[in-house]
Amino acid sequence: MELLIGSHVSFNKKTQMLGSVLEALSYKANTFMFYTGAPQNTTRVEINDDITLQAKSKMLENNIDINKVVVHAPYIINLANSKNEQFNIEFLTQEIKRVSKLGIKNLVLHPGSHVGLGVETGINNIAFCLNKVLEENNDVNICLETMAGKGTEIGRSFEEIKSIIDKVDNSDKIKVCLDTCHLNDAGYDVSNFEQVLDEFDKIIGLEKIAVVHINDSKNKIGSNKDRHENIGYGTIGFDNMLKIIYNSRIKDVPKILETPYIGVDDKYPPYLFEIEMIRNKKFNDKLMDSCSSYYKKD
Ligand code: FE
Ligand code: FE
Ligand code: ZN
Repeated sequence: MELLIGSHVSFNKKTQMLGSVLEALSYKANTFMFYTGAPQNTTRVEINDDITLQAKSKMLENNIDINKVVVHAPYIINLANSKNEQFNIEFLTQEIKRVSKLGIKNLVLHPGSHVGLGVETGINNIAFCLNKVLEENNDVNICLETMAGKGTEIGRSFEEIKSIIDKVDNSDKIKVCLDTCHLNDAGYDVSNFEQVLDEFDKIIGLEKIAVVHINDSKNKIGSNKDRHENIGYGTIGFDNMLKIIYNSRIKDVPKILETPYIGVDDKYPPYLFEIEMIRNKKFNDKLMDSCSSYYKKD
């Protein structure tokens, strides 16, 4: 099977998923991920079925498998904190409905931060909410993302993810999203990715991996920072990134770039050129030049 590579793309009120597909195609991607609204808030628009239909036929036309497309839940949702429990459950329930209406299977979710309540309480809160949210039958998987361990983030280890999964009744619906920057920052040596996968397989099981976020890291292993870097420009490095991306044990899993925009005021998306260097397996050490000459308005 062909490499499934794409990036985070935008989703706006007017063009919705059609805009997302077109943006992905502009990067020569064959998969993509989007937030159904701004990632930092929970304001969401009604999904327009006409646009969804157009988006789906665009995908079909371009051999994009909708089953591999990903939605990311807003990161301010914090299931580990029982304070906004009712709102979180309602929002996530609605979000699953939107994702289902779009015909998408995978919803990535940050497990949450325990904000001083302690890991165990945090995990119990997360599992409680997931059980509520998964009560109704639906065809959407929640993909818990592995986190960098910044602050009181839960999901910094495979063991933490596993203990959430173990507490969910409908655990078939729980999958995992690996994030290479987060793994590195949490202390996993992704330069030996085979070993990381062995460990994941032992604790959770490789079949649970539904999405991989492909990011280099600005910080060294174990820093608990979570700052993404462009592919080959960070501490993980281009060769290690390629080994992860082309690892045969995760070959059917969509790889999604969430690397930073580049240039003054973060003007240019790097994805067209990052995808190109990944496909060519050849590092582009002039990413900024490539982007600025390509996107420069005349
Ligand atoms: Fe994320
Ligand atoms: Fe991520
Ligand atoms: Zn991150």
